[in-house]
Amino acid sequence: MAEQKRDYYEVLGVDKNADDAAIKKAYRQLAKKYHPDMNPGDADAEKKFKEASEAYAVLSDPEKKRQYDQFGHAAFDGGMGGGGGFDFSGMDMGDIFGDIFGDLFGGGSRRRSASNGPMKGANLRAAVRITFEEAAFGCEKEIEITLKDECTTCHTTGAKPGTSPETCTKCGGKGKVVYTRQSFLGVVQSAETCPDCRGTGKIIKEKCPDCRGTGYIAKRRKIKVSIPAGIDNGQSVRIREKGEPGTNGGPRGDLLVEVNVSRHPIFQRQDMNIYSTAPISFAQAALGGEVRISTIDGDILYDVKPGTQTDTRIRLKGKGIPSLRNSSLRGDHYVTLVVQVPTGLNEEAKEALRRFDEASVQSLKNGNGTAATTGRHGKKRGFMDKLKESFEDK
Ligand SMILES: [Zn+2]
Ligand SMILES: [Zn+2]
Repeated sequence: MAEQKRDYYEVLGVDKNADDAAIKKAYRQLAKKYHPDMNPGDADAEKKFKEASEAYAVLSDPEKKRQYDQFGHAAFDGGMGGGGGFDFSGMDMGDIFGDIFGDLFGGGSRRRSASNGPMKGANLRAAVRITFEEAAFGCEKEIEITLKDECTTCHTTGAKPGTSPETCTKCGGKGKVVYTRQSFLGVVQSAETCPDCRGTGKIIKEKCPDCRGTGYIAKRRKIKVSIPAGIDNGQSVRIREKGEPGTNGGPRGDLLVEVNVSRHPIFQRQDMNIYSTAPISFAQAALGGEVRISTIDGDILYDVKPGTQTDTRIRLKGKGIPSLRNSSLRGDHYVTLVVQVPTGLNEEAKEALRRFDEASVQSLKNGNGTAATTGRHGKKRGFMDKLKESFEDK
């Protein structure tokens, strides 16, 4: 446990007369080389990083440096048996590491990046409900959202007119504080939002009375949403820069409007195709003829072939949903024709049906039947026989 601690100057590779700039430069090079983010899982690098960080924490602080120069490591022994750990508590490490890591990891993409560059605002979410047809052909909708508008009194500074925000002294205007703590893992660093300025880097002494120091005023606003033809349930429309305001001159976030499409009583949709069923009478099924079929373009007359069986599926080419990318392309509409068995026939209709049945049996004997089977009377049984039985059972 009582491992011999290396001399801090030796750790940083500088001589005892090195000035602040030289110490900082030496540490920056070591930090870059041994930072745990650059050497994941490398215990030796982590140890070196901790060692260099500790040395820098002392040598960059004039008071600590003076004590170290005079007493060596003994200056910081806690008197608790000298566990060898360095006590960082009570030291303002924010300035030290904020300074180093601010430019070490600058550029905005890293976790520890400086927070005072322009940043895009957060996205807002909303939802809108539309009909099946509106989804198919596109529509314009108006939705109401709460949007933060720039405060015209303080022009987003949040400060009372005539005053201006001051740079936060806790974080030096960076908005983030890097804490270094001694834990059982060793020296652990974490960058956290500055508690004093809540990440803005500024302290407002006298708040703007109109926005109470926030710089923005929430207002209910009506927004037009242009919904493109072909959109499907659950997809979103993005409206640029209608989200939360950005920070430090960054653009607003976007507004994402989720589209909920109501179910249609007749049509179902899968991708660009539409599916539905249409009833036809059995006379139409047997004899053929025009039937009225609903499509999203309105009703059409479709010529059913004679001898159409129930559950026959027909394709109405190009009567489906337009493509979201190219509205001149459309899917198809598939219609399942369902033959309706008549109910509640009067005596005259029943008699006609019996005569029809006799005639159709005759027709089957002459070899005109197709998918017929032998029934209980030794006669060929077809679809019409089954129909007849269903009437007789009543
Ligand atoms: Zn204001
Ligand atoms: Zn601050």
